[in-house]
Amino acid sequence: METDYREQDLDKEEQEIKKDRTDPEGEGSKESSYEDVCFVCHRPESKAGKMIHLTKEISICPECMQRTMDMMSSGNVDYSKMDFSKMPNISMINLADLQNLIPRRQKVKRKTAPKENEKQVESKKTFDIRSIPAPHRIKESLDEYVIGQEKAKKVISVAVYNHYKRVAAGAEGDGIEIEKSNMLMIGPTGSGKTYLVKTLARLLDVPLAIADATSLTEAGYIGDDIESVLSKLLAAADNDVEKAERGIVFIDEIDKIAKKKNTNQRDVSGESVQQGMLKLLEGAEVEVPVGANSKNAMVPLETVNTKNILFICGGAFPDLEEIIKERLNEQSSIGFRADLKDKYDKEKNLIRKVTVEDIRKFGMIPEFIGRLPVIFTLDGLSEDMMVSILKEPKNAILKQYQKLLALDEVKLEFTEGALRAIARKAMEKDTGARALRAIIEDFMLDIMYEIPKDDNIGQVMITEDYIEHRGGPLITMRGAPALEMQG
Ligand code: ADP
Repeated sequence: METDYREQDLDKEEQEIKKDRTDPEGEGSKESSYEDVCFVCHRPESKAGKMIHLTKEISICPECMQRTMDMMSSGNVDYSKMDFSKMPNISMINLADLQNLIPRRQKVKRKTAPKENEKQVESKKTFDIRSIPAPHRIKESLDEYVIGQEKAKKVISVAVYNHYKRVAAGAEGDGIEIEKSNMLMIGPTGSGKTYLVKTLARLLDVPLAIADATSLTEAGYIGDDIESVLSKLLAAADNDVEKAERGIVFIDEIDKIAKKKNTNQRDVSGESVQQGMLKLLEGAEVEVPVGANSKNAMVPLETVNTKNILFICGGAFPDLEEIIKERLNEQSSIGFRADLKDKYDKEKNLIRKVTVEDIRKFGMIPEFIGRLPVIFTLDGLSEDMMVSILKEPKNAILKQYQKLLALDEVKLEFTEGALRAIARKAMEKDTGARALRAIIEDFMLDIMYEIPKDDNIGQVMITEDYIEHRGGPLITMRGAPALEMQG
């Protein structure tokens, strides 16, 4: 009865596997599209070598088999002294009973080899010094997506260009080694740090891993090991080690691992995590678990060299402005150049004046800062920038909604006043451009709900009054003058 039920439940893929099991040699058929997986290390046959079949369901790879044999013959286990009959609750196991314990999928889909023309495309994509766009080209591409932040875009374009030139030159072996250009990016929340890196990685077609420094701990503590960021990178590179070794790792909220002041406790998340990252930033061979965050999981390990991986750290560094202000005030109050003490209190974008010394005072250890030679800042977003972010980038939020409604043949428009009102509301939230989407989604929900009700609606105009809850949007019926929609 149970088997009947199972039979019904099998989806198409499982039926194929089942067929495979009943015809393990693939007799009468072409090469099977599924391959066996080792019961112990979970590697597929293509990686682990020809499997030894213990039963029809259980296969084990030669390496794991050898290890088991070695363990048994090492003398550490003396079977002769064991009296199984005296052990409580132990009886001889019938392998057939194990059938129900075995996960049903003991096979994985075989990776198909790329076809000839696919291989050509692949090799074109592999890295070539001549194909790195010049810094001004990189910046031009970034301009299409990221609003403002001119200095940051310029610095990042040059640094990335140099980094990949260095990667290519590394092979030449003339003894001169160009220093790695890892970066430290400082800017308020929602000013586009993550977005800048994501856009960059997409434009350069390199794998990107984004990690949060707060989740990283030293190996052995609860949380992700520092090396786990490389697991993510490897996954982003489709487990292709070579591709991962040219990738970018972005570590966000780096300010959260600043050294804690006045503490006697062992600092597992701050200074020691910075220490733990030093080797990674500089370049080291790291054993990385494939497909898991922890080395404890029974997964295969790959060795990844971080020498050519570009590390970008980002953080909001709250209170850093205070440190800068203090320093500047100290400097300006000395000697005859003494200025007013509150001269810097109202200065905008004070963060641009940051120095390595300020960052050290904030709590980053000198060795750590030393491994991030490119330091730059992003400005807090102004109302004007917010308005531009709404409408100008290639995939601007407004363009996305306009496209969505255009599919219903409805034109969506925003008055300048409406855009300003949205930007003002976002500024109040203090979470940068991140607030924009939340605000828009809030009122667009009603629009998206109401508009499809009436096929005659041809245009919707979002006004400032609507955003400020003083009225409805202006609706134009096909071939008629505009009307205000009643809420
Ligand atoms: P953070 O600086 O906190 O990492 P994000 O990069 O995650 O901020 O920004 C959140 C979102 O805001 C991004 O996904 C992007 O859509 C938008 N955004 C932020 N800054 C800009 C900018 N300068 N230009 C265009 N979009 C931006």
